[in-house]
Amino acid sequence: MTALDDNIAKARTYMAPFRKNGVMNHIAGKSVPAKSGKTFETVSPVDLATLADVARGDASDIDEAAAAAKAAFPDWSKTPGAERRRILIKVAEAIEARAEEIAFTECMDTGQALRFMSKAAIRGAANFRYYAEQAPYAEDGEVTRTPTQMNTTSRRPIGPVGVITPWNTPFMLSTWKIAPALAAGCTVVHKPAEFSPMTAKLLVEIAEEAGLPPGVLNTVNGYGEDAGKRLTEHPDIKAIAFVGESRTGSLIMAQGAATLKRVHFELGGKNPVIIFDDADIDRAVDAATFMIYSLNGERCTSSSRLLVQDTIYDEVTRRVAEVAGKIKVGHPLDPETVVGPLIHPEHEQKVLSYFDKARVEGATIAAGGQKVGDAGCFVAPTLFTGARGDMAIAQEEIFGPVLTAIPFRDEEEALQIANDVPYGLSAYLWTSDLDRAIRMTDALEAGMMWVNSENIRHLPTPFGGTKSSGIGRDGGDWSFDFYMETVNVSFPRAGHRIPRLGG
Ligand code: NAD
Repeated sequence: MTALDDNIAKARTYMAPFRKNGVMNHIAGKSVPAKSGKTFETVSPVDLATLADVARGDASDIDEAAAAAKAAFPDWSKTPGAERRRILIKVAEAIEARAEEIAFTECMDTGQALRFMSKAAIRGAANFRYYAEQAPYAEDGEVTRTPTQMNTTSRRPIGPVGVITPWNTPFMLSTWKIAPALAAGCTVVHKPAEFSPMTAKLLVEIAEEAGLPPGVLNTVNGYGEDAGKRLTEHPDIKAIAFVGESRTGSLIMAQGAATLKRVHFELGGKNPVIIFDDADIDRAVDAATFMIYSLNGERCTSSSRLLVQDTIYDEVTRRVAEVAGKIKVGHPLDPETVVGPLIHPEHEQKVLSYFDKARVEGATIAAGGQKVGDAGCFVAPTLFTGARGDMAIAQEEIFGPVLTAIPFRDEEEALQIANDVPYGLSAYLWTSDLDRAIRMTDALEAGMMWVNSENIRHLPTPFGGTKSSGIGRDGGDWSFDFYMETVNVSFPRAGHRIPRLGG
């Protein structure tokens, strides 16, 4: 038996409960079907076989979940921070204990390779641990004093919130939103993406087994246009934390307007990796290829535009093409696989459509540029060269293992190309000139930048985008600012004159 056979057998065991029961909704501590009884299928992108039937929640299921979250809010929000910390650390431990099950389920549902997904649960647990540790301090504020007043500022949880997540790395992203919400004292209704709903169900079950009270976290599956929409419109849901496409963010903002919903958006990206000829080229090539070809390129912060100084453009693109050509595309559970199948045939078609666009626009396909095999959603790691900044392949988020290389002359041109997109999520800069690094990072339009470094996430730092890439920041205390209301109470320090009117 190969390691892959072994893993497929294990995955079958992990999938068995889902095959038997389907992916149910989870409301007020109970696994429940959609009220309508309707379901939809989640398919494996490996071979398009049905993995499970999924409860197709709609507005009535969201209403029930919002009622559960509202009922659970008074107790959970009043639970002392130290107790919330204790429970959330138990959740982190329980996630770690089931890391393999989470990883295998995620691989089968999303097509992401095991070599990356094996860390997804660990990272999810780290999100819970980090915010558990902050929970006792979530309400903290500051005291400011004037000669007459003492102002005390503090925070209180905003209420039940909605969390809407995408399909690309669903477990990690869900914990990234849900852990700070729970630590802040909010209760949650979670609407996972319809293409990859399985690990969200594991998360809520694991959290409750670890001691999270029923109703604090509720999960409703369903389509964006009905379940998702109702969540954003629900009057008892005070805020929406959303991760997904920029155009969906616009819809949610409009849908939430009538109830004045607070929104936090983590949206799309078309992130540049900019390599100057004074850079450490070996490290830059490794980082650039890792950031586009890992996680199937289905990653918001992927380095999807390769901007290379013209003096080293041919060498760098040749080396990137070599790497792309050597990457193993295969079954997500094969330990050797780097690129697994894309999430779904619909998304695969979108990615493949850019190969024709590239040809029509006059770019060169220097690596990949085609589907791999007949079955499943496998696409070859691809490099477009000779592109211009105004081409669709340089402007639009492709969200696959597809990199667009563009040459530049100097700093000015690099900046002009880098900033000339609607997005502004992340940017990566490679140069050995410190002054240039400071000039460039001062002018790059991106919420997060990494200089001479891979995308390494440090949880206390702010995460989020500018322009069409998002609104708001996660990480550190920024998450609490979103999930909590800041309140100021002013006390008199001394007798002060109060104007007397009319007398
Ligand atoms: P999507 O916007 O299509 O869907 C995301 C979620 O929104 C799903 O749960 C969907 O059901 C729901 N939804 C759709 N329409 C809705 C509506 N009208 N009202 C309420 N909910 C609705 O995104 P996707 O295709 O699942 O995910 C890929 C996108 O996510 C990419 O653009 C990627 O860049 C982005 N993303 C961003 C980050 C980040 O941190 N910036 C991280 C991961 C993914």
